Amino acid sequence: MIVSMPCDKSKTDILSMTADELRETLVAMGEKPFRAGQIFSRLHEKGATSFEEMSELSRELRQKLSESFGIPSLSIATKQQSSDGTVKYLFATEDGNMVEAVLMEYKHGNSLCISTQAGCRMGCAFCASGLNGLVRNLAPSEMLLEIAMAQKDSGKRVDSVVMMGTGEPLDNFEASVDFIRLTDIGKRHISLSTSGLCDRIERLAEYGFEITLSVSLHAPTDDIRSRLMPVNRKWKVETLVKTVTEYQKKTGRRVSYEYAMIDGVNDSPAQAEALIKLLSGRGAHLNLIRLNQIPESPFRPTPETRLDAFKKRLEVGGLNVTVRRRLGADIDGACGQLRRRSMQRGDRS
Ligand code: SAH
Ligand code: SF4
Repeated sequence: MIVSMPCDKSKTDILSMTADELRETLVAMGEKPFRAGQIFSRLHEKGATSFEEMSELSRELRQKLSESFGIPSLSIATKQQSSDGTVKYLFATEDGNMVEAVLMEYKHGNSLCISTQAGCRMGCAFCASGLNGLVRNLAPSEMLLEIAMAQKDSGKRVDSVVMMGTGEPLDNFEASVDFIRLTDIGKRHISLSTSGLCDRIERLAEYGFEITLSVSLHAPTDDIRSRLMPVNRKWKVETLVKTVTEYQKKTGRRVSYEYAMIDGVNDSPAQAEALIKLLSGRGAHLNLIRLNQIPESPFRPTPETRLDAFKKRLEVGGLNVTVRRRLGADIDGACGQLRRRSMQRGDRS
């Protein structure tokens, strides 16, 4: 993606460029095409943070590159370590935006939850990320840097990535797609979570990435879903589920639905029946999530016993259901909460 540096609009962010974009740009500048391969590998395989260290390039070329391009960076603003091994990072972008990422340890490896935007404009009623709206989109380079920084700081390898931190990845479509293209994490180890922008889900299907799509459903009917998620006023539950089923057919990848259990809002036996009717026979997976309570919202998590009963009902009805393990519960585990805390303290947005 061709995007400017966060603080210097006269320079192009070279880390966000795809290999093709870099080659075309360098050739237009009068350079040999193979130079693009050398630079790309320095940036993406060796993690170069300056043109100076690209010793295989002439001094003149390094100088020329640094006049036209920049390599963005992220710095660690704060870091919280949970007793279960989860680490939550708050990174600062070069222009002072706060970006959170959470590193979780599972039996099958380390997973990093990354943000795709600073803030979010979707306005879901239960979510801390959307409370102050969207500040700006993140560039592909900044998403890549979330992984690089977490690896560097923790000394651990990130084996899988979930695009489930702050932001709506499909509202930052091009950057999210280019991130998926650029990262060296295998596509089968990437999950992208969306609140359900149907036109973008259709567009994403065209790419045929072998990623896992997660769809935040949270209610089986329009009355409740529209109350929780304003996006439902545009694309109704029926349309969403149809679009997702089409996506599944087209890509051959199984989709999972996310459902945060909210006390007295979406957890009744009747709603379990409605969910069964909505999803049965579609080959999808349903993830029940324990709601993380945020101070600004009136919603409370469904008590455990009722959550178990809801899950059993769905299973009896033939759905494939799991309850998501809750990692980092003692460190503002929920999406957007750490960033919001820091904003309230008066750090930059
Ligand atoms: N914007 C995308 C991805 C980021 S949100 C999306 O909405 O899917 C990642 C997940 O966290 C979504 O499933 C979202 O619904 C969920 N979420 C947001 N706030 C939450 C909260 N307070 N408790 C539990 N899950 C929450
Ligand atoms: Fe945005 Fe997702 Fe939060 Fe909704 S749940 S406000 S789409 S980050």
